[in-house]
Amino acid sequence: MQSFTYERPSTVAEAAKAASRPGARFIAGGTNLIDLMKLQIETPRHLVDVNRLGLDRIEETDEGGLRIGALVRNTDLAADRRVRRDYAVLTRALVSGASGQLRNKATTAGNLLQRTRCPYFYDTTKPCNKRQPGSGCAAIGGFSRNLAVLGTSEACIATHPSDMAVAMRLLDATVETVDASGATRAIPIADFHRLPGDTPEREHMLAAGELITGVVLPRPIAGRHVYRKVRDRASYAFAVISVAAIFGRDGNARYAFGGLAPKPWRLAAAEGATSRGHKAVAEAALNGAKTTPQNAYKLALTERTLAAIHAEQGDAA
Ligand code: SF4
Repeated sequence: MQSFTYERPSTVAEAAKAASRPGARFIAGGTNLIDLMKLQIETPRHLVDVNRLGLDRIEETDEGGLRIGALVRNTDLAADRRVRRDYAVLTRALVSGASGQLRNKATTAGNLLQRTRCPYFYDTTKPCNKRQPGSGCAAIGGFSRNLAVLGTSEACIATHPSDMAVAMRLLDATVETVDASGATRAIPIADFHRLPGDTPEREHMLAAGELITGVVLPRPIAGRHVYRKVRDRASYAFAVISVAAIFGRDGNARYAFGGLAPKPWRLAAAEGATSRGHKAVAEAALNGAKTTPQNAYKLALTERTLAAIHAEQGDAA
């Protein structure tokens, strides 16, 4: 690990200012960043510890939603009675992720910003455009079984690993930020994560030093909330694919997908009446998919997962 300096500010303004130093990075739970630093994939020169900023509360908004502080731990978010009652898809996504120990440390903002688990990203002996821009992509033509089929580019086919972000995409969350000048932004989660294009190293819309302060959920959507994660073992594994869905009491269904794309994937064309068949949903959601011989199975797996969810919906109706 390369040497670095460290500070622990006590206000948001101090933290945003500290992060304007060259090579600075925020750290909260550290469940991803520390691993990346040990492998020298991330080499920050200065760490700004945000754990004392007081951004660890979940509050009701005037609009009938919830504001989740950036530092709310995944365990606490999943267990919050309002989240369990009104945003069950979010609780289900959270508890399907990582392990209990990791969820106790991992934060809301850190979960959104976690990096891909493409094996070549972590193997510094192999080319990877995300780790080292312009070096190539070992996954294209390599081991691609777990990689993306939608939203990819010639430069990168990595997936986004978060379960939580898929549920937040389904719920139309908004990410709130502040920068060193004190300017704030509210970024719809649909726009927060970037597709790789020619610059796979740029994964989100945050500017250097811009701090996530919270995530706002709009009013809850009444209905049946589902998070179905398909993985290679029963726990402590990233999604091969996942489906977040709400079968609304208003007769409309919405879907978001994980494990298929470099960002949580959601398409208006896949949504509509709850009576719409799973095949039509899958066809619309997977439109434009580009597979490798190793990951083409994800298309059938997505359709079958939707079939299972729809069958349960028929039982629940
Ligand atoms: Fe790197 Fe992306 Fe290629 Fe994986 S898929 S090796 S993360 S460029």
